Amino acid sequence: MVKDFPFEISPMFEGERIRKDGLHVELAGPKSKGFELVQAAKMNEVEDGKVTLIGPDISEMEEGKTYPYAMIYYIAGEHVETDVESIVERRNHDFQNYIHGYMHLNQRYDIWVRIGKEAMSKGLSSLKQIAQATMMLFKNELPFIERIEAVYITDIAEIEKRMEEAKKTYDLRDARTRDLHEEDVDTFYGCTLCQSFAPTNVCVITPDRVSLCGAINWFDGRAAAMTDPEGPQFAIKKGEVLDLVGGEYSGVNELAAKLSGGAYNRIKLHSFFEYPHTSCGCFEVVGFFMPEVDGIGWVNRDFNGTAPNGLPFSTMAGQTGGGKQVVGFLGIGINYFRSPKFIQADGGWNRTVWMPKFLKDRVSGSIPQEIIDAIATEEDVTNIDKLKAFLIKHKHPVVARWKDEKEVATSKEVPTETTQVQDVLHLSGGTGGGIKIILSNAKITIDKIIVKRK
Ligand code: SF4
Repeated sequence: MVKDFPFEISPMFEGERIRKDGLHVELAGPKSKGFELVQAAKMNEVEDGKVTLIGPDISEMEEGKTYPYAMIYYIAGEHVETDVESIVERRNHDFQNYIHGYMHLNQRYDIWVRIGKEAMSKGLSSLKQIAQATMMLFKNELPFIERIEAVYITDIAEIEKRMEEAKKTYDLRDARTRDLHEEDVDTFYGCTLCQSFAPTNVCVITPDRVSLCGAINWFDGRAAAMTDPEGPQFAIKKGEVLDLVGGEYSGVNELAAKLSGGAYNRIKLHSFFEYPHTSCGCFEVVGFFMPEVDGIGWVNRDFNGTAPNGLPFSTMAGQTGGGKQVVGFLGIGINYFRSPKFIQADGGWNRTVWMPKFLKDRVSGSIPQEIIDAIATEEDVTNIDKLKAFLIKHKHPVVARWKDEKEVATSKEVPTETTQVQDVLHLSGGTGGGIKIILSNAKITIDKIIVKRK
């Protein structure tokens, strides 16, 4: 395998951002298609170190343009089973960000890569060099991988064909935890891989709560903690149940306090408003509270429009990420919609009022039939006023929460332009690090603010 590369490779480059002015090409991401996949194979099926590239190489790509991109790795070894595929796949994010001048974001079918001009000027000339460097890191850091082979693809027809197979693999992995629940186990798993971008983020992965990136479920966490004890995934003793509905456990709180550097010391795994799970930036979906209807909307990464609150995914993702507990926004993995404990402390599906049609269709099997038609999509409503009317018409359960339905429904006070109020309140007995409250599209009257110092 090649050992010399025209770029530096070091963990110190994790977190490096490539902005538009330093961009050579963009691969996959919101303007194109792509995915990453790791598949376990038999030893005789893997040619160690081999790279196949299907489609144009970076030397043939036009500066400033976006191209499709898929990365498939076949791995083999005495201890390599399908169980480890997810956790090896997630480390692609980790290792590729060690490469100076190369930025990797997200996971699975959401990957987004940027290659910088500086890397090109230093001699990067082929995606095969990237594949070789990544495979070298996989073998160095995860010694149970004895052989590894890569297929990189930039041809859109080939990517679309193979994407279907990849999605079947992701679905099979996600289905594994459906019959297992938090009450059946005494150990959860944690992940701090994203602390390079979100220093206080701790992902807590339970049978009822997949990771924010959607790439690691409880079984994957367990496999990772066993095969790579020094790695970023680890076991968390569940401890005492402090709030069954909210999903608060003493073991999780103790670890959160330690691994967040004391930024917070309580996490309620199934709560949207009280001590919510932190959000790093890799989440597949952002939840956002709309105070005007006392309901929660969810928007996925691929949705290009604006939500009824007037904001696109990118703006809300910016507010949500960073590893803090942000009341009013919550990052989740798509498979959490399928959890029977889905934000159960705050009403679960009965509090969900809006989702993009694509996302709603994708998780429709998990939405209770009695509410499915009462959840609006972009095809039904485009702003808060229309959303209110829709919810009333479809007798959504949140309407019963409104104090004066008639007044809310006919209110002319809500401005159509987005208004954001950003304040950091330090609450006694709260998270200690402060809670950012962001309300959009709301007209607010504040009578008085009382600040109590400890
Ligand atoms: S989102 Fe969470 S589980 Fe996924 S890689 Fe980041 S820290 Fe780990």
